[in-house]
Amino acid sequence: MKAAPAAQKRLLDLAELDSAADRLAHRRRTLPELAEADELSTRVARLATQVITAETEAADLAREQAKAEADVDSVRVRAERDQKRLDSGQVSSPRDLAGLQSEIASLGRRQSDLEEVVLEIMERRETADAQISRLVAERDELATARDAAESRRDAVLAEIDKESAEVKGRRAEVVSDIPADLLALYGKLREQFGVGAAMLQGTRCLGCRTSLSIAEINRIKAASHDEVVRCEECRRILVRTPESGL
Ligand SMILES: [Zn+2]
Repeated sequence: MKAAPAAQKRLLDLAELDSAADRLAHRRRTLPELAEADELSTRVARLATQVITAETEAADLAREQAKAEADVDSVRVRAERDQKRLDSGQVSSPRDLAGLQSEIASLGRRQSDLEEVVLEIMERRETADAQISRLVAERDELATARDAAESRRDAVLAEIDKESAEVKGRRAEVVSDIPADLLALYGKLREQFGVGAAMLQGTRCLGCRTSLSIAEINRIKAASHDEVVRCEECRRILVRTPESGL
């Protein structure tokens, strides 16, 4: 393949820009800000689930308390009714009176047991509410940290995107100086090796850092300037420049 030396030299600019693009893409993938935002986001989601669980528990306890309070009320109403009957003096048989008094006493014990239950539920609710407050505070604090991490991440990503766009713009300019067949060869080699072209410096290929044999150097020296030469070691396009010292 033949190509003007100036076009061949542009391959070095292209290789540099492609490496810059690769570095930017790598940086984009491995940003610590990305991992940090993801980690905080996961922790916020986990806490949000814990808040919902705690809230459900508290709601269950509230229902349990309402039910226990209703039980207390109904027992109290029955006791009051019995007490009224007793106070009214309408019950005169000693046996009925004794039965009524016994029922009132038994209802009193029942009420006091049920009130104990209400108190116990209220204590559990207090613990549950404190737990919710703690979890909500932790969740909100982490959400703030997550938002800040996301802002930092987005700022770095925007910076990388800007640099990538610059590289892309410069690449388009460079590409317009390179003939299609040379560009296609470069593209194929880049796919294979990551870098498609390298400078020949002295007797060394800067792509694979190998020193070429005397025979190979002599062959390259003898080749015309528009001949596209390749490294015998890594097969990349070897670009000769004044710095090559040939
Ligand atoms: Zn090489």
